[in-house]
Amino acid sequence: MDFTKECSKCHKTKLLDEFYNQKSGKYGKRADCKKCNKEENRKYHQEHKEYNKKYYEEHKDELRVKAGHLSMYENKLCSSYLGIVIAERLCRHLFKDVEVMPHGNTGFDIICNKGKKIDVKSATITFNGKYPRWQFAIRRNTITDYFILVAFDNVEDLNPLYLWMIPGHILNKQSTAQIYPSTVHKWNKWERNIKDAQLCCAEMKKEK
Ligand SMILES: [Zn+2]
Repeated sequence: MDFTKECSKCHKTKLLDEFYNQKSGKYGKRADCKKCNKEENRKYHQEHKEYNKKYYEEHKDELRVKAGHLSMYENKLCSSYLGIVIAERLCRHLFKDVEVMPHGNTGFDIICNKGKKIDVKSATITFNGKYPRWQFAIRRNTITDYFILVAFDNVEDLNPLYLWMIPGHILNKQSTAQIYPSTVHKWNKWERNIKDAQLCCAEMKKEK
């Protein structure tokens, strides 16, 4: 009996052990040797990986929107993103050297005047039972010098209604800050002009 066979790819004569089994093949073995077969698989996977990667890069936004993974910086029309843009504008009116931190920075989103830290929180109206309110996630943030709270009407329209700039120590012991439209006057002393923010949002929506 012949214990060797020629590989269809590399044309080397090899022992049958060096071929994978395949019932229909000569001597019950594949035509190509294990080494050539592995190489073929490797290449196939590599090409697919590159193809998938390329496809992902080209269709990233659609895929992520479909999967519900769109981050606030990619989805420019969400309250968190608009909130940061609005807050940045306000900071540029008030301070020097305004710098917006990369998305996900811990404790603050904007730094100004060489070290003043500002954390921006956005909320749309949600209901506590039947009472509408804005709920801002403060998360007991003790790092920040100021919170800028931006209150929007709802996720569809995203019209900013109020803007508050509140010293850190007023809120930083709380996990959330809840502001009720019915008692909104309590926050008057920290309220900032919303007109500029509204114009800024309208512009951004038009661009989109
Ligand atoms: Zn071979």
